[in-house]
Amino acid sequence: MLSPLDWFFGLFSLDIGIDLGTANTLVSVRGKGIVINEPSFVALNRKTREPREVGARAKEIWSRNPKDIIIVRPLRDGVISDFEVTAAMLDYLVRKAHEQTWVPIPRPRVVVGIPSGVTEVEKRAVLDATIASGAREAHLIEEPVAAAIGAGLPVLETRGSMIVDIGGGTTEVALFSLGGIVLSRSIRVAGDEMDEDIVQYMRNKHNLLIGEPTAERVKMTIGSAYPLPEERTMAVKGRNLVTGLPDSIDVSSVEIREAISGSVDIIVDTVKDALDDTPPELIADLMESGICLAGGGALLKGLAQRISEEVNIRVWVADDPMTCVARGAGRVLEDYNNLRRLLVGPERGSTRH
Ligand code: ADP
Ligand code: MG
Repeated sequence: MLSPLDWFFGLFSLDIGIDLGTANTLVSVRGKGIVINEPSFVALNRKTREPREVGARAKEIWSRNPKDIIIVRPLRDGVISDFEVTAAMLDYLVRKAHEQTWVPIPRPRVVVGIPSGVTEVEKRAVLDATIASGAREAHLIEEPVAAAIGAGLPVLETRGSMIVDIGGGTTEVALFSLGGIVLSRSIRVAGDEMDEDIVQYMRNKHNLLIGEPTAERVKMTIGSAYPLPEERTMAVKGRNLVTGLPDSIDVSSVEIREAISGSVDIIVDTVKDALDDTPPELIADLMESGICLAGGGALLKGLAQRISEEVNIRVWVADDPMTCVARGAGRVLEDYNNLRRLLVGPERGSTRH
């Protein structure tokens, strides 16, 4: 039951779900949907280490390579590597989301999705940073749980369901049943690793030096995990390592599939591994409901088909897979009494002031 005070606040309250992704940070606000969607980049003053820009503007600075500024991707490998910077990012996000409302409403309630496997100290720090940024309440949820809620999986039901969230830095697999996580796997192989595979491939096979942003574009345009109905080619620009001059080379989707196959195989094996440990009755559930893919990596062409063929279970991509975590985190506050047990962290995931 809601207390009368909670009910009253609920009428006016700003409920925010935040996805602190390794590649992208998203904020969803109840009733409005996704209001912020920016790359997880922070630009710092090189001397003072004070944050100067956050998000898309910081990424823009990154491509210009200025001397007095350093760029940090604080969550790059799925762990929170730099706390002050993460705190600065949270501060920016909560304030920006709050400022976007034009009615004077109380400070927001916030649920932050964090990579699974962060330490208690890190959780405490994220909670503190969220409160410091002006939140009235702060809660934490593990990203695969938020992704599953955002994808609409029946996480509170007895029957089993599985999510595979493929982000920039990490791939997380989680199996749900009886209202909780039955098992999970987390690996540091995801979209970024595929970009690095492509950089290496272009260097070794074509003597062409390209940057990660170019590699990412190649992956998104012609990258795949399964033979395409029509294979494609793309002109890739970079610096020729033999002549030192700018060069453009035509690359085929078949080559790029081969280049990223190592990373794709690791992701497929992680799903297989999770299924090996899945109890038989839950396997039966999964054969009915399928396995759900979320995160930007879910958009890799043919990935669902490839996994499906290898595990012999239907695999489907969530609607709008890149926003599942933020939407799922936001949903928790809408159905707080039922979903609160899926929250994690110190003080059972909540800091009430
Ligand atoms: P995170 O949760 O770690 O912030 P996201 O879920 O935002 O990550 O996904 C980002 C990753 O998804 C990046 O590696 C990006 O290159 C990849 N990605 C986005 N769109 C596509 C696409 N169409 N094809 C392949 N990969 C994609
Ligand atoms: Mg993510």
